[in-house]
Amino acid sequence: MRSAKAVFFDRDGTLNPDPGYINEPNKFEFYKGAKEALKNIYDIGYKIFVITNQSGVGRGLVKEDVLEEIHQKLVRELEAEGVEVAGVYYCPHHPGEKCNCRKPSPEMVRIAVREHGIDVARSFFIGDKRSDIETGKRAGCKTILVKTGEEGDNSKVEDCYPDYVISNIEEAVEILREAANGEAEM
Ligand SMILES: [Mg+2]
Ligand SMILES: [Zn+2]
Repeated sequence: MRSAKAVFFDRDGTLNPDPGYINEPNKFEFYKGAKEALKNIYDIGYKIFVITNQSGVGRGLVKEDVLEEIHQKLVRELEAEGVEVAGVYYCPHHPGEKCNCRKPSPEMVRIAVREHGIDVARSFFIGDKRSDIETGKRAGCKTILVKTGEEGDNSKVEDCYPDYVISNIEEAVEILREAANGEAEM
């Protein structure tokens, strides 16, 4: 059997508004339309992953057990829509720690790929920052820049040369559907 294809999503600014360091579950809310978009993407046949830098932990602003509760809420809300999240991977480190997992390192994607048998060449990384695009490229994925996050108004962010630029996550559905259809014809 051929290995699975996946979409790796950044979290803040991609799936949910980013008001700063989200430090309790009730501060986490999906963007309007995001859950439906993920449901469509899941139904096309992509495994769903979240790959997120959470330096708030290393900065002492977010407790790690609360971060895990926030991610449980994320997973449960998607489950209620019929979406199975294959994995949530986060880097808890302060940038000064010089860890090897913080994006733009592709390490978290590589771990997910290993643990879940993902074919990166058929997979996508979607995020709102250039560090997400760099992560996706270094991991060997196709990349989609979504302009909902804090860099949404910064036209220079596109200098990171993503494969696609979209204005919200719903617009990813057609791109991913076409990619999947293209494979079926091969
Ligand atoms: Mg982001
Ligand atoms: Zn790290």
